[in-house]
Amino acid sequence: MTDPQQRRDELSAGLARTRERVAQACALAHRDPADVTVVVVTKTWPATDVLALADLGVANVGENKSAELIEKRDACAQADLTWHFIGQLQSNKARDVARAADVVHSIDRPKLVTALSRAREDAQRPLECLIQVSLDPEPMPGRGGVDARDVGELAESISGAPGVNLRGVMGVAPLEGDAKAAFDRLREVHDRLVHEYPDATWMSAGMSHDLAEAIAAGATHLRVGSAILGSRAYLR
Ligand SMILES: *Cc1c(COP(=O)(O)O)cnc(C)c1O
Repeated sequence: MTDPQQRRDELSAGLARTRERVAQACALAHRDPADVTVVVVTKTWPATDVLALADLGVANVGENKSAELIEKRDACAQADLTWHFIGQLQSNKARDVARAADVVHSIDRPKLVTALSRAREDAQRPLECLIQVSLDPEPMPGRGGVDARDVGELAESISGAPGVNLRGVMGVAPLEGDAKAAFDRLREVHDRLVHEYPDATWMSAGMSHDLAEAIAAGATHLRVGSAILGSRAYLR
């Protein structure tokens, strides 16, 4: 069992290091750090970590499993947090995610839009939706993401559905190769989308190891886990 104060210090140091990296990358890119939101990816870590992060000023957290999202959101109900779902979404879990998340980053097929919309249409606030664009050279199982050519169709279905708001695009850099080049391609998709949907201004890109490349390409949201919380004990 880790000492709570020691864990809090670790998280605080991880946040400070990450904010410093963000500030440096923004300076290089001539961008304002206020335009870059860090979503702290808390997957596999306990709710006590989420509460400590909230206390340290974190406002946005990310999860990639629906059950874990629901459990932690319940456990952290006293904290004022925006919950992001960043994982691959199965249609049979869309209903749960639509009720527990504020933002979904990983929409990559029309069937999900229908399910999320139906589950959210009577809610007070719409679900903020990002289209996950595949940045892999070849489609790969388990990675998610729609082909860039199919973004228009998906955007149309989100923008026409009740309970869901089209907010932008999300991408994960390929496992190998140049992250910056991949994020530049995502940026082109983003620019085309914003042209047609002026509110779809978000670009979610960059993780612990490639956040500087993402900032250089124009990311508005980073998804940072291990650089803040440490390496995950098991992979999900
Ligand atoms: C886990 C995860 C992250 C965070 O990765 P780190 O390398 O720990 O920063 C970001 N995006 C997605 C989609 C993830 O699943």
